[in-house]
Amino acid sequence: SPSPSNGANPFATVTNGINGTSQAIADRIQIVNEQKEFNTQLSQQIEKWGLHDAGFSYNIVAVFGSQSTGKSTLLNRLFGTTFDVMDETRRQQTTKGIWMCRAQTAPLLVMDVEGTDGRERGEDQDFERKSALFSLASSEILIVNLWEHQVGLYQGANMGLLKTVFEVNLGLFGKRDDPTQRTLLLFVIRDHLGTTPLPNLQATLSQDLHRIWDSLAKPEGLGNARLEDYFDLAFEALPHKILTADKFESAVAQLRKRFTGENGTETLFKPAYHKRIPADGVTHYMDGIWEQVQSNKDLDLPTQRELLAQFRCDEISAAALAAFNEDVRTVRRPVEAGTVVEGLGGTMAGWKEVTLAKYDQAASRYHPAVYQRKRDDLVTTIHTTLHPIFYSQLKNLSKLTLAKFKKALGDGLKANTTYDFAEVVGKAKDTGLGEWEAATKDMLSVVGEKGGEWAGGWEEERSTLVVELGHVADVFRKDETTKMVNQIERSLRTQLADPVEVALAKPGLDMWDRVLTAFNDLIEKAETGYVEKATSFNCTEEENDGALKTIRRRAWISLLNKIKEHTADAALLAKLRASFEELFRYDEHGVPRVWKPEDDLDSVFKKAKDVTLDLIAVYAKIAPTDLSLLPTNIPSDDDLPPSFLASNSSDDFEFESSLVLLSETKQLDITSRFRRDADAYYVEAKRSTVASIAQ
Ligand code: GDP
Ligand code: MG
Repeated sequence: SPSPSNGANPFATVTNGINGTSQAIADRIQIVNEQKEFNTQLSQQIEKWGLHDAGFSYNIVAVFGSQSTGKSTLLNRLFGTTFDVMDETRRQQTTKGIWMCRAQTAPLLVMDVEGTDGRERGEDQDFERKSALFSLASSEILIVNLWEHQVGLYQGANMGLLKTVFEVNLGLFGKRDDPTQRTLLLFVIRDHLGTTPLPNLQATLSQDLHRIWDSLAKPEGLGNARLEDYFDLAFEALPHKILTADKFESAVAQLRKRFTGENGTETLFKPAYHKRIPADGVTHYMDGIWEQVQSNKDLDLPTQRELLAQFRCDEISAAALAAFNEDVRTVRRPVEAGTVVEGLGGTMAGWKEVTLAKYDQAASRYHPAVYQRKRDDLVTTIHTTLHPIFYSQLKNLSKLTLAKFKKALGDGLKANTTYDFAEVVGKAKDTGLGEWEAATKDMLSVVGEKGGEWAGGWEEERSTLVVELGHVADVFRKDETTKMVNQIERSLRTQLADPVEVALAKPGLDMWDRVLTAFNDLIEKAETGYVEKATSFNCTEEENDGALKTIRRRAWISLLNKIKEHTADAALLAKLRASFEELFRYDEHGVPRVWKPEDDLDSVFKKAKDVTLDLIAVYAKIAPTDLSLLPTNIPSDDDLPPSFLASNSSDDFEFESSLVLLSETKQLDITSRFRRDADAYYVEAKRSTVASIAQ
């Protein structure tokens, strides 16, 4: 049952229920009320009618005519709508304004324009004009409803109405963007008696319409505009509804078929009549039209369509973006936390595709330029939103690649003792970089074939990665070089031990010649060994030079240490004693002496002592007889690479002074200690002589 508006809601919405169930399709809605306000609830109603996603696949019809000429009755009969019909018994006027219903059997919106009565009232003329504009701007077919006896009354109310329609139309469609765009005026002649055949009535009406058209003051540039340029005309006559009810019903049924196009007949709707407003934009469009009309502003449809397109494309874009942002949220946190999200490029491309598809589906029906511009904006927004994720993923992948590279180098060097360092590094680098590129390239295609505005950042990150891989390789190479240098030094030290010991045990003038010859031999072998191995390391000249210097310096220090071991106080004294004993206690044939009283013990003692004491000076300094044996390329601290100095906190080193083994003081100390030992031997020898005499 009808439930008119009450208080709060200024609009009447009537929900029609059958057996208590609400049937949205039978709802009617007041889209413009008596206060001339537009009802934006229309949007929800269109959804309820199931037409929101209809695109262009819907039609709009409006009816126009004097009050109480059976308009609402006709619409209800034709389309199964539920417009209010004047109560016969009370002759009460129905609610003013503009109403809308959905046809029962077709995606058709029907507008019933109420309250155009008594043309003497100025206010009504205003409403009539406004609702004519409104109806023309949106409808494909305008039904003009009139009694038969009104036909030919050129001065009558209907002709005034039509004049208004024409005037308004010229203002509205004068600037139409599509010159084929037109509107069908369907004249429905009511209470047709039949005495005057329809063709005659049609001719009269047509004549009158042209007279009105010709009498119009045309706007600038439209002086030659013809009625036919803007309107198609159609005519229909209906018999008296009450007096000839049956005939009325069958005539209505015939007319209904002209709308629906049943049985293969052509429908009244033609594409040229459609105002090309997508169903989901009808509300906003009508709202805008009504506002323009209300404020008496100039109304041109191209502008209105463009404004509508801007509004709707923004709305559609925002809705698509909202869903997109939801999706993006799911990866933003992990990616920002450093996780490499698998297949991110494909995922992002998918989101973009879905988002644009959503936009395209709804927005592509609107003004093409606006649609395209907003689409470009949407693409930009999508790219801008995805860019930080793309960038974080790049960084994360770089980190991962570096970590993998380190591991690959470590494993590669460990696995194979006869590895070629450059080859191991080269392979690991190629693999790492290849994987990085593979994992990042699909992200680039999100933006475009060549990565669009992301390509620059990608290149930059790739270059950074290459540099960083190089750094890691450098660290490994230095490690490897250090290891090799250490190994060479160790083996050199071992090999030095014997020759040094042998040489120092046989003191003499050529003692240092023997030591240095052995040393020079070994160092030459060590250097050759390094150069052989280092060729695969891709070391720089500078690095090789540093390594060789390190080897020489360390070898020299090892030599000194070895020598010092053998010239330490106790060792040196032992050697001196041994030398002295050799001379003093054994004769020239190596036979132990037995002192007899006639032996010249004193002079033998003195000679042995003097010769031995001279040895102290020999041990005191590395001084070969052949000076060319002294190495000339033992580097000083200034000559060594910083890494060597950092790892060897050696005392100040100076080659010349490193040759001095015993200081003057030390020599005096050793001399006096040796003298004591020698004196003890002398005393012992003397005693043995005395003893032998006593025997
Ligand atoms: P509207 O104001 O133009 O919408 O007219 P209504 O549909 O409310 O009808 C007004 C009155 O005319 C009602 O009492 C109807 O019963 C009556 N009516 C409807 N159709 C016809 C018709 O074809 N001929 C006549 N004579 N009366 C009609
Ligand atoms: Mg009515």
